[in-house]
Amino acid sequence: RAKERGPGNVEVYAAHMHDTVVSRLELQIRLRRALAEGEFFLEYQPIVDLGSSQVTSVEALVRWNRDGEVVGPDGFLGAAEESGLIVPLGEWILREACEKVAVWRVSDWDIGLSVNLSVKQVLSPRFVETVEAVLADSGLSAEVLTLEVDEDVLLDGGGEAVQPLAELRGLGVQLAVDDYGMGYASLAHLRRLSVDAIKIDPSFIADLGRDDTVTLLTHTIIQLGRDLGVQVVAEGIERPEQLEQLRAMGCDHGQGFLVARPMAASGVESLVGGEAGANL
Ligand code: C2E
Ligand code: MG
Ligand code: MG
Ligand code: MG
Repeated sequence: RAKERGPGNVEVYAAHMHDTVVSRLELQIRLRRALAEGEFFLEYQPIVDLGSSQVTSVEALVRWNRDGEVVGPDGFLGAAEESGLIVPLGEWILREACEKVAVWRVSDWDIGLSVNLSVKQVLSPRFVETVEAVLADSGLSAEVLTLEVDEDVLLDGGGEAVQPLAELRGLGVQLAVDDYGMGYASLAHLRRLSVDAIKIDPSFIADLGRDDTVTLLTHTIIQLGRDLGVQVVAEGIERPEQLEQLRAMGCDHGQGFLVARPMAASGVESLVGGEAGANL
């Protein structure tokens, strides 16, 4: 297109590309340093049993303290994946979270942990051994850990990620499909890998009770989970009506700002054995 408008535009276009590539590389270098200097930290968002309102587990969510400003995963995960930093970063996340939860469990609190994975991590050499080593080092039993993967992880690289994940599941680690319902042929994906939980995408929960098709789909996913013997977690619960509707539909677990926001480790400690909040 630039060509049609004359040579001047080609230059403008090239300069813009250059800026993008340079800032991308700068970010990647900055991220590498951030990992070395301990600028990443984790928040934990409680997941509750919708029947009993008890906190049954927490999902670890990574953040970056960039010169005092907190940057969320959307601001750096893409670059970390591109550069491959996600592999050591992901290991740090897993280790940090497992160590915290192992300490919380010492006081007889039966709390589980969910950790998100990128496909690059799953496909990296020694991924299975790394997870095993982290569990052994932290003293956490495999059953306590749930690894969350997006639906597309089951497809990427011709489904190469299925084998290491299945291997970990064989060791007792639980698997959850994150953002369920967003991909194509969602149902078919589940046949490629046995999972323990599906997390209904927040876009479904957002329209629950407002859009008949979405409400029906949500109900169907919950029913499907029951039929398959898979736990169903609803993500992105923000309004009391959503909570009521999900309960009525028999959804097992819930997560969202109404229930509890992602919080620092110290915040989780104050929840020991208790309920997530007054909103339940
Ligand atoms: P996710 O795994 O689906 O995590 C849930 C996201 O939804 C989190 O955003 C959480 O803060 C947000 N959330 C929870 N409840 C509500 C709600 O009621 N309303 C709204 N609007 N949002 C809610 P966050 O922390 O920004 O993370 C975004 C995504 O980044 C995650 O989506 C996950 O895919 C990825 N991610 C986060 N931490 C990690 C990590 O440690 N490793 C990897 N590989 N990916 C991560
Ligand atoms: Mg997740
Ligand atoms: Mg996700
Ligand atoms: Mg999700």
